[in-house]
Amino acid sequence: MAYDDSNIFARILRGEIPCRKVFEDEHVLAFDDIRPLAPTHVLVIPKGHYTSAQDFAEAASEAEIVAFVRAIGRIARERGIDASGHRLLANHGADGRQEVPHFHVHLVGGRDLGRMLPRAAEE
Ligand code: 5GP
Repeated sequence: MAYDDSNIFARILRGEIPCRKVFEDEHVLAFDDIRPLAPTHVLVIPKGHYTSAQDFAEAASEAEIVAFVRAIGRIARERGIDASGHRLLANHGADGRQEVPHFHVHLVGGRDLGRMLPRAAEE
């Protein structure tokens, strides 16, 4: 899938749309989700143009991957959800119901998040 430069996170990266920034370095931007599902709901995105988790895994440089993973750990600690627990989630493609075609990880915590996924009958 080709990268769509008009997606909402590309526009946030270009500063065309505001965000509540949580963290930024050379490779990574993190900001609060606009529709939070928990007291902490941060979106962590690479600055590079990767469409999905799969694209990032295959095409990102080691420096980008290291920066990304370290940023997630740092934000979790700063938000105080390293000890209490949290969830990392990356939706990929149609079955994953990915809405925004710029790779992102949801960092969610601050309450008991329940079971990981509903069983098919509950959807
Ligand atoms: P996905 O389903 O692609 O994994 O999740 C996309 C996420 O982006 C959703 O949780 C949605 O609330 C969030 N989102 C969509 N548009 C915006 C926006 O303009 N600003 C912010 N901060 N989050 C957004």
